Amino acid sequence: MQRHLLLVGGGHAHVEVLRQFAAKPLPGWRLTLLTREAMSPYSGMLPGVIAGLYREEQALIDVRALAARAGAEAVIDRATGIDLVAKRVHRAGGESRPFDLLSLDTGATPDTARVPGAAQHALPLKPIDALLPRLRATLDAAPARIGVVGAGAAGVEVALALRARLPASSVTLVAGVAGVLAGFPDKARARVAAALAARHVEIHQGEDVAEVVAEGLVFPRGAPLALDAVLWATGAAAPAWLAETGLERDRAGFLRIDERLRCIGRTDIFAAGDCTSFDPQPLPKAGVYAVRQGPVLAGNLRAAAEGRALRPYRPQEDWLVLLSLGDRRAIGTRNGIVMGGRAAWWLKDWIDRRFMARYQGP
Ligand SMILES: Cc1cc2nc3c(=O)[nH]c(=O)nc-3n(C[C@H](O)[C@H](O)[C@H](O)COP(=O)(O)OP(=O)(O)OC[C@H]3O[C@@H](n4cnc5c(N)ncnc54)[C@H](O)[C@@H]3O)c2cc1C
Repeated sequence: MQRHLLLVGGGHAHVEVLRQFAAKPLPGWRLTLLTREAMSPYSGMLPGVIAGLYREEQALIDVRALAARAGAEAVIDRATGIDLVAKRVHRAGGESRPFDLLSLDTGATPDTARVPGAAQHALPLKPIDALLPRLRATLDAAPARIGVVGAGAAGVEVALALRARLPASSVTLVAGVAGVLAGFPDKARARVAAALAARHVEIHQGEDVAEVVAEGLVFPRGAPLALDAVLWATGAAAPAWLAETGLERDRAGFLRIDERLRCIGRTDIFAAGDCTSFDPQPLPKAGVYAVRQGPVLAGNLRAAAEGRALRPYRPQEDWLVLLSLGDRRAIGTRNGIVMGGRAAWWLKDWIDRRFMARYQGP
């Protein structure tokens, strides 16, 4: 009898799983991808899309086509729950799907719940697939005053991309108490601060946003900041539907996984990427981890299907961070070394295009 391997979410780890199953099928198993959108955005190129350096389709992976190459059925729908006893995944628009083996790579959601008004008045960067159509409208309207709340890597890149795309608009990066690029090496922070100043991106810091209103941002003590558009680039939150699954979660609601990428207490359910919390050590919510988990996940799903031993995922200790400055320049940092300029952009562009080519081609 055929057994079912069900992949939920077309995230960065699952595209690699599909690629590997396309190269080497899994006999005796029926493969299904259940994902919200047929086109999965690659976040590394999103700032380049905003800046106008890439067309939108260059930053999108056609997961339906990728699934077809892997011999998988693609179901374009939203998972809403899991029945752990019947071993079925519920979805919004149709009949639930069975699984013998299940893997979840559904990403995170924006952290808008903590600040009143953010969900109503701000445009969250995550999920990116929901962002793109709304972003198009914002860029076309070319608002005079734009604010980007959250000054981690994504917020910095998006602020600089907006600056490049909308030269007549004022762009303010709202960095809060943490400041710009908290946790990055001082040398990289100084270099990025200089790049922001040179491009006339205003910085607002020292206070976190208390409320988002139709007219802009309100702070606990300081003067409000009048804005015509607000982008929300603060940390990631766990998708609400995971709470209903009965799977083990951490305090923030992310799925707890072991070093072999299995959900805690399960041998038949795996998970990867931003929707997870890696039990052996805390990991940042960053695409590089989902990408590196991809090959281990693919191997472990195959091993689990064939009853073989699984291998552990060992997170990289440091990685090259390349921040796009929006104008074909970038700043890169790894192991405390900082590089910048056109060469850094060239490297970023080359890495991103190479990544996309793995999943876009026949
Ligand atoms: C502007 C920006 C720039 C960034 N740049 C970088 C960078 O340069 N480097 C880096 O490491 N990280 C970067 N990140 C972070 C990165 O985007 C995430 O860490 C990464 O996307 C996580 O990958 P994932 O596979 O967990 O999930 P995602 O890439 O979020 O994919 C989730 C998938 O699941 C699908 N899905 C979601 N919910 C459901 C559901 N209920 N049912 C079915 N399908 C569902 C979605 O449609 C999507 O296909 C950036 C983020 C942003 C916003």
